[in-house]
Amino acid sequence: MRRIYMDANATTPLLPEVFEAMRPFWIESFGNASSIHQQGQQARAAVDHARESLARLLQCRASEIVFTSGGTESDNLALFGILSAEPSATGERPHLITSAIEHHAVLHAAEALALRRVDVTFLPCTPSGLIEPAALAAALRPSTKLVSIMLANNETGTIQPIAELAAITHAHSDTALFHTDAVQAAGKLPLDLSPKGEFKDVDLLTLSGHKMYAPQGTGVLFVRRNVRLAPLFHGGSHERQRRAGTENVPGIVALGKAAELAQSWLTPSTNPGAPSFVPSAKDGVSRTSATTLSPITLPANPEELGRLRNRLEQGILAAVAEAGINGGDTPRVVNTTNFYFDHVEAEALVIALDLKGLAVSGGSACQSGATEPSHVLTAMGLSPARARASIRFSLTRLTTEEEIDYALTLIPAAVARLRTLSPTYRTALRTPVILSEA
Ligand code: PLP
Repeated sequence: MRRIYMDANATTPLLPEVFEAMRPFWIESFGNASSIHQQGQQARAAVDHARESLARLLQCRASEIVFTSGGTESDNLALFGILSAEPSATGERPHLITSAIEHHAVLHAAEALALRRVDVTFLPCTPSGLIEPAALAAALRPSTKLVSIMLANNETGTIQPIAELAAITHAHSDTALFHTDAVQAAGKLPLDLSPKGEFKDVDLLTLSGHKMYAPQGTGVLFVRRNVRLAPLFHGGSHERQRRAGTENVPGIVALGKAAELAQSWLTPSTNPGAPSFVPSAKDGVSRTSATTLSPITLPANPEELGRLRNRLEQGILAAVAEAGINGGDTPRVVNTTNFYFDHVEAEALVIALDLKGLAVSGGSACQSGATEPSHVLTAMGLSPARARASIRFSLTRLTTEEEIDYALTLIPAAVARLRTLSPTYRTALRTPVILSEA
């Protein structure tokens, strides 16, 4: 059966170029980057090269890049690393501000810190999913050590006003730092952390490799120069004493290559024209829908991917009643849309679409299996029923217009079928149950 993958926010396919860049470091160049012999030096040079590529993507210094095992570790390193770095001379409890709509990597780390004498404030969001700058300004205290607000939400794609929130934090005090979880923004938005750049007030920033076409288990924490960070792990002096442990050289090389590809995709001047490729079963992109051997045009830049996302949205809205976009009235990353389909259970719809070959997600992947409605959607004020009726479509840089159109033949039919089985839909229509229909 043909398969279409629209779950990039859970994980992205590994790009063939990324795989090729990393391959020698599994086999020929297998050295430990801390060894002084030639194999070690090759590994060290490759790690340094990748660090430079990440620094170019983020417009920061190479020394400000800390390689980690992924977004969860980077978030935990930021929160625990700052809140345990400097015990207060006065014995005052340090204060952390975050938001109700963060990924669990931040939310659960904040809850763990609350059990360790840290005061935590969870800011609410507006019905559109935005964190209001005025709410942050009102929550800041003299004891605030860290503010952690995500850049793009993993469920809705909503982009927060991070530059403004970070500036408010710094205007409030010289000691309060600002962290942003940019896992769902990297490779979708330009990220400029340079001293005059848009994110000049951001002190710490999290990235995850497997959301930007590198392998799972790779990540970065950007730590601005002069920020004092306590390590989570104790052992060697790797990563300038900020992350002990032998480097994952193949993973780091892959992440460096993915950063280079992301940069050229985000910067049209370095990426003229839409790339085409002829898919085959062995080229690593077969995880998408490639079933024909004719050349396929891929979205060449964020604008083109956004056009595909909008085509999907318009197609669904035109074909399905009692459906709508959660957070559709805010700035969003171009690949993401989150729909409610009233009278439908999201889990049932995800399974029904999967059986037809379309991979999407209800809430975040890390939550699947949980029966609780999404904490993000309920924080936006959706009723539990509507939150449970919501699913996320997140396109990849390999999504094609033809895939969108094919998905549009599957989605309305799957929703209609599930609604015929839904007791709430029958009640709303006052339709009697016809036993033979089930
Ligand atoms: N932060 C956000 C916004 C995410 O979407 C995710 C994963 O879905 C993470 C953090 C965790 O990243 P990782 O899977 O690399 O641990």
